[in-house]
Amino acid sequence: MSEFDVIFAGGGLVGAAAAVGLAHAGRRVAVIEAAERQANHQPSYDDRTLVINAASLNILAGLGLLPARLARTPVRRIRITRAGGFGLLELRAADYQREQFGAVIVARELGNVLLEAMHNTPGITELCPATLETFTVESDHVRVRLGDGNRVRTRLLVGADGTRSMVRQIAGLASRHHDYGQSAMIFNVRPGRAPADTAWERFTPQGPLALLPQPEGRLGVVWIDASPAVDRAMNWDDDTLIGHLNRRFGPALGGFSRPGKRARYPLVQQRTPRPVGERVAVIGNAANSVHPVSAQGFNLGLRDVAGLVEVLQRHDDPGCAAALSAYAERRQPDQEATVRYTDTLARAFTNPSLLARTGAGLGLAAHAIIPGLSRRLVQAAMGFREPVSQLARGPA
Ligand SMILES: Cc1cc2nc3c(=O)[nH]c(=O)nc-3n(C[C@H](O)[C@H](O)[C@H](O)COP(=O)(O)OP(=O)(O)OC[C@H]3O[C@@H](n4cnc5c(N)ncnc54)[C@H](O)[C@@H]3O)c2cc1C
Repeated sequence: MSEFDVIFAGGGLVGAAAAVGLAHAGRRVAVIEAAERQANHQPSYDDRTLVINAASLNILAGLGLLPARLARTPVRRIRITRAGGFGLLELRAADYQREQFGAVIVARELGNVLLEAMHNTPGITELCPATLETFTVESDHVRVRLGDGNRVRTRLLVGADGTRSMVRQIAGLASRHHDYGQSAMIFNVRPGRAPADTAWERFTPQGPLALLPQPEGRLGVVWIDASPAVDRAMNWDDDTLIGHLNRRFGPALGGFSRPGKRARYPLVQQRTPRPVGERVAVIGNAANSVHPVSAQGFNLGLRDVAGLVEVLQRHDDPGCAAALSAYAERRQPDQEATVRYTDTLARAFTNPSLLARTGAGLGLAAHAIIPGLSRRLVQAAMGFREPVSQLARGPA
């Protein structure tokens, strides 16, 4: 039976990045991934435009996962507005002594970089396509059975297997789940005019609408609404879609044209307060899935990766109780605060009650007026919530 230091169930964006990080640290790693290893088949590596914040750019660079050829569009300005109400927040990176808040990267392109890195990094065995079927924990190792009947052994099993994580369920890790009853539809468009380095977030009664800068002057749209409304929107013809987008966003960018392919995602929240068990941990969406309103999901998962890499450096046995407790304690404040903050935003701006929405407008105004409040918000949104890992801090 093959033996490893760490096995990842799930080689999506988070599992693949973690596998590379731990292999660089000298661990023998295996990745069990259900989807075929071509970025076009891998559902985690799709056409989503991801806002990768400043801390995450540092983490990716530190893991060698930010090569110059990976297309990225910097975000230097964020404009947050609310339809039909007061409250406008404009954030400029220069006001925070930053060159950029982060960058927009297409998940598929990052996926290609991750696949290549897994292939080229010594110490990584890819078991793919293969599924984790079940596992049993013994005193100093975990026995994992794959869907094809093969068995492998590891000192630590990490579930990076997404929101419905089997690892989390089999390990019996307590988790809360909330269905927002909303879905996100993504597509890209050409705007009449748009500054190249600006991201837009507009809160509307249906839900938030984000427009993210992409190469060649296009904008990636994240359109959030109640799930039945998104089902209908998926079937609109292009002209109808553009008409609705023009009405929902307003005239600020001179109208839109040439919408690209659409994809749809149901939105849920998952919170696992203690993401570790005996010789088992869960990271990324398998531990905490958040509403995309503040573009935090993958960023949070990458900070899990950085935390795991950092903590395991201090322990010979990667699955020992001391290592896993240290990981859980180190990550707890960031995970708790990020899930709570994202959930508050998602609920406040879509709450039908006038009082709640007025409160949300006042909140935006307060962020604009009170510099300390805005600074704290921005630091957290850039991924620098304490304790900050060495990888997230970056070389400086
Ligand atoms: C519309 C939208 C926009 C978003 N925008 C942003 C953004 O701007 N910034 C940001 O930071 N985040 C964003 N996110 C969130 C981000 O996409 C996710 O947080 C991230 O993709 C989670 O990655 P993951 O690897 O943890 O999970 P997943 O992507 O779900 O990957 C799980 C992997 O595990 C595999 N798997 C599952 N079960 C098994 C099994 N039993 N055996 C083997 N393999 C298995 C799957 O095949 C898959 O490859 C957005 C999300 C949505 C929906």
